[in-house]
Amino acid sequence: MILHGKPVQERVLANVKAGVEKLKSTHGVTPTLAVVLVGGDPASQVYVGHKKRGADAVGIVARDFLFPDGIGQRELNDLLRSLSADPSIHAILLQLPLPKGLDETVALAAIAPEKDVDGLHPTNLGRLLAGEPGVVPCTPSGCIEILDHYGAKLEGAEVVVVGRSRLVGKPLAQLLLARHATVTMCHTRTRDLAEHTRRADILCVAAGRPRMITADMIKEGAWVIDVGVNRLPTGKLAGDVDFDSVQARAGAVTPVPGGVGLMTIAMLLKNTLAAARRQSGA
Ligand code: NAP
Repeated sequence: MILHGKPVQERVLANVKAGVEKLKSTHGVTPTLAVVLVGGDPASQVYVGHKKRGADAVGIVARDFLFPDGIGQRELNDLLRSLSADPSIHAILLQLPLPKGLDETVALAAIAPEKDVDGLHPTNLGRLLAGEPGVVPCTPSGCIEILDHYGAKLEGAEVVVVGRSRLVGKPLAQLLLARHATVTMCHTRTRDLAEHTRRADILCVAAGRPRMITADMIKEGAWVIDVGVNRLPTGKLAGDVDFDSVQARAGAVTPVPGGVGLMTIAMLLKNTLAAARRQSGA
């Protein structure tokens, strides 16, 4: 089975759109997302454009704060604090990675936790670790949304996560743990990666290494979630999973493009609506 992201994305966005309309009519509040982009990274610029179009489609206002020529740490922190204090802004997205010389941890901490739409403020990461409800990082929650949509059984499942970044691997492992999966995390110092991945009922890969997971590394019938997005020298996109060979052995696998990538913006908009609801007492 191919785990297409499209139907899952469409369902999430339809719910967000209905929620936005309801919040407007009952509370007169239009959910508003501030997108902060520092530097001229072309991939980030494309991504910010997608976010804006996605927001427009569900009735969320996206306000861009773009600094193509860079900005100092103090200026950035001041901007994030002033957006945090602005009642017309419900959610703030700081596009990562920041250019060299800027400290991501310091900048993320300048965002009010209730407006931190990517769930990366230390308070929200702490809530995730504590198993308390909070804002959950968009890409990992998109992976869970796909697994739920297609009926994966997480409780008691042997899940292996390849990658331990703050943005994807670590929060994804916590979400899976909260759903009672048995989670193993792998990274570059893992001794025998294939020995772990072959045990997995569900294998989630977020390593940023094109096609590193091959068919011989998975168990027959395993479900495979590919978070990786890698630009090949040919210009084509490839995931971290060798889709063609893995598809023949896996029970289910997400494609790249067309899988997890479709979910990230949908979950961002879902988090924006949730933030606007909380802040307006809805
Ligand atoms: P990252 O910060 O570079 O982290 C990569 C992680 O993978 C690290 O923990 C690294 O281990 C591990 N790793 C790298 N090579 C490995 C190997 N050969 N064996 C085992 N582990 C390995 O990347 P990220 O931000 O998490 O992103 C991962 C991928 O997901 C990228 O392709 C990115 O483009 C994609 N992504 C997609 C979306 C989306 O919307 N679909 C969103 C975010 C990211 P160490 O910690 O030991 O270095």
